[in-house]
Amino acid sequence: MKKDSKIYVAGHTGMVGSAIVRALKEKGYTNLIYKTSKELDLRNQKDTANFFEKEKPEYVFLASAKVGGIVANNTYPADFMYDNMMIEMNTINSSFKNNVKKLLFLGSSCIYPRLAPQPIKEDSLLTSSLEQTNEAYALAKIAGLKYCEYLNKQYKTNYISAMPTNLYGLNDNYHPENSHVLPALIRKFHEAKLTNSKKVIVWGTGTPKREFMFVDDLAEACVFLMNNYEGNETVNLGTGKDISIKELAMLVSKIVGFKGTIEFDTSKPDGTPRKLLDVSKLNSLGWRYKTELEEGIKITYDYFCKEKNLRG
Ligand code: GDP
Repeated sequence: MKKDSKIYVAGHTGMVGSAIVRALKEKGYTNLIYKTSKELDLRNQKDTANFFEKEKPEYVFLASAKVGGIVANNTYPADFMYDNMMIEMNTINSSFKNNVKKLLFLGSSCIYPRLAPQPIKEDSLLTSSLEQTNEAYALAKIAGLKYCEYLNKQYKTNYISAMPTNLYGLNDNYHPENSHVLPALIRKFHEAKLTNSKKVIVWGTGTPKREFMFVDDLAEACVFLMNNYEGNETVNLGTGKDISIKELAMLVSKIVGFKGTIEFDTSKPDGTPRKLLDVSKLNSLGWRYKTELEEGIKITYDYFCKEKNLRG
C-alpha cells in the first residue's frame, strides 16, 4: 500500500476495524474511507455494489462482522450465519468486480475443529467437526476464506485471509449476556467492586483454556500482512500463549481490585476445551505480538473506566 492509496476499512466502528484505522493513521496512510452500518448495510447486495462502484477502493480490510460470545453464538445461530455470509459475499464480490488490488479477510480461530491438535496449525481446517456453540459463525467464516481462495485460484486475485485468536481491547462489547469472556469479566468484577459485592459468578467450569491478543497488536499484524504477505493459505494471528478461564478470572480480579470470591456456574457452557493457535507461520514472516496479557488488560480496564465516567 502507498501512503495515499485508497483504503476501505469495513467495520470501522467495531473493536477490530477501529484498531485497524488507528494503526493505518499512525503509519501515515491518508486516504481512508469508511461507512457506518447505518450509512451502508453490507448485507445489502445492491447498496454494497453501488458503494464500491462509486468509491473504487484499492485496498480492503474486511473487519465487518456480527460477533458475540459463547451464549450469543449459541442463541442466535441463524442471525450469525445470515449476517456474516451476506457481509462477506457482498464485500468480497464487489471488491472483485471493482478490481480491488488486495483484500484482507478476517476470520476467527473458531473455524478450526473442536478437537484440533494443539497448538492449532492452519492446515487443521476442515479435518473434523466444529464446536457446536459457534458452528454457524465458523461456517460463515470458512465460506468467506474459501471464497477468497477460489477467486485467487479462478481469477488470479490477491485476497488474503487471517484467523485471529480471541481479541480484547478498546471499543469492545460489554453486554452482560452477549459479550466475550474478557469484557464480561472486566464488567462483572468492576461492578462487584463498586457495589461491595462478595462474589462474582464466572460461567462454566473455569478449566477451558483460551489465547488472548490485544487488538492494537492484531491491527499491526493486519497492516503488516497487507504489505508483506501474498499467499492463498490463511495465516493464524495470535500470541502462542494461553491461560485457563479460572486463571484469567483471578488476573482480572487482581487488576480491577476486587476483594471477594469467585464462583463457577456450571450450568453455562464451556465451549471448546482449548483453543491455542500455532503462530509459527506468522512469526516466520517476521511479525510477533508486543503486548503481554496483564498489560493489555490494564490498558483496557483504564479505558473502560474513563468511558464509564464520560457517560456518567
Ligand atoms: P468462546 O471462546 O467462543 O468459547 O467464547 P467466550 O469468550 O464467550 O467464552 C470463553 C470461555 O469463557 C467459555 O468457557 C465461557 O464459558 C467462559 N466464561 C466465563 N465467564 C464468562 C462470561 O461472563 N461471559 C462469557 N462470554 N464467557 C464466560
